[in-house]
Amino acid sequence: MPKTVVGVRIPGSEYDIAVGSGLLQSAGGLLRAVSKSDKVMVLSDSQVGPLHLPALKQALESAGARVIEATIPAGEEHKELNTLLPVYDRFLGSHIDRQTPLLALGGGIVGDMGGFVAATLLRGVPLIQIPTTLLAMVDASVGGKTGVNHAVGKNLIGAFHQPAAVWIDPAVLTTLPPRELHGGLAECIKHDIIRDAAGFADLEQNIHRALSLEMGYLQQLIAHNVAIKASVVAEDPFERGVRAHLNLGHTFGHAIETVSGYAYSHGEAVALGMAAAARLAEALRLIDERSRLRIAAVIAQAGLPTGGMTLDVDQVVEAMAFDKKIKSGRLRFVLPAPIGRAVIRDDVPVEMVRRTVRSLGG
Ligand code: NAD
Repeated sequence: MPKTVVGVRIPGSEYDIAVGSGLLQSAGGLLRAVSKSDKVMVLSDSQVGPLHLPALKQALESAGARVIEATIPAGEEHKELNTLLPVYDRFLGSHIDRQTPLLALGGGIVGDMGGFVAATLLRGVPLIQIPTTLLAMVDASVGGKTGVNHAVGKNLIGAFHQPAAVWIDPAVLTTLPPRELHGGLAECIKHDIIRDAAGFADLEQNIHRALSLEMGYLQQLIAHNVAIKASVVAEDPFERGVRAHLNLGHTFGHAIETVSGYAYSHGEAVALGMAAAARLAEALRLIDERSRLRIAAVIAQAGLPTGGMTLDVDQVVEAMAFDKKIKSGRLRFVLPAPIGRAVIRDDVPVEMVRRTVRSLGG
């Protein structure tokens, strides 16, 4: 299957996202389309590096590029500035210049951290995102948000730095743990709920093909999703308006993730959050019962939870009140109205919120 190319057109920054199974093998040619540099930096993590760096390295070297590698330990607990100090040492000790591109090969963590290094090294070098989780492919690699965590909170140190290119090879998903694949599907479901009713109907029919790693379908699904994310980002590159729609399920989700002590993965918490958003939307008469059941069914098909939550309801509601998405003291919810379109509501009575969280226990 030939690769699919999705163009991102953000004022001041235009780049292509190439999606194709086996694409890593043609990284040399792809590199030459965006860079003449004889060196490239590659950042990866301790889990992805051994699996996928050798193929990438071979392809880059065959195009005459010398590869300078750096590896960070895998895991959110390492997403901090200290982890990056040896990375800066390694790259700055290798005679790089402002034209030397940095390739971030990994999940959203490597993408965010590699992006931050690219934004700050020599005041900015070209960044190429090579996402290897479904979440990073359809979400984190598009949009230019980069950064690391701080003890005060997640992603609080960072920069907007748009990539020069994004290369997505769905074949790398064959080594991804299933729970991570399911988590990425949560974001795909979210995109269709906020933007594309026909895409949602397609997902209902075909999500099993993604779960069985059918490459042709994954390529189509990923291209569809990066196109949605790219269009939202192009409308609102600095997150001042419509980009907030991408937070569907996240007001509930972040609270659930935190209160569970991260026992729920991000994708699972967002899945519960989307199920809650659908319930809230039904209570507010923005969608009918059938639509709410369709949303729950597709989440369940993706191997994600829609209920059975045993967390303390008050604790979840309280955690929501601390979420950074609150504007002027009111809880803000992104809700389907109907499937394929999103609205933001900040007028939901707290008792209705509490009832909705309680319903996730069923
Ligand atoms: P991750 O980067 O931690 O990857 C999950 C795990 O899978 C890691 O252990 C990783 O080593 C491993 N892995 C990755 N690809 C693999 C593969 N192909 N085969 C085998 N193992 C593989 O997690 P994630 O879910 O990709 O990303 C989460 C991060 O992304 C969070 O830090 C979040 O803040 C960030 N994020 C950023 C944006 C953004 O717009 N910049 C959007 C969403 C999330």
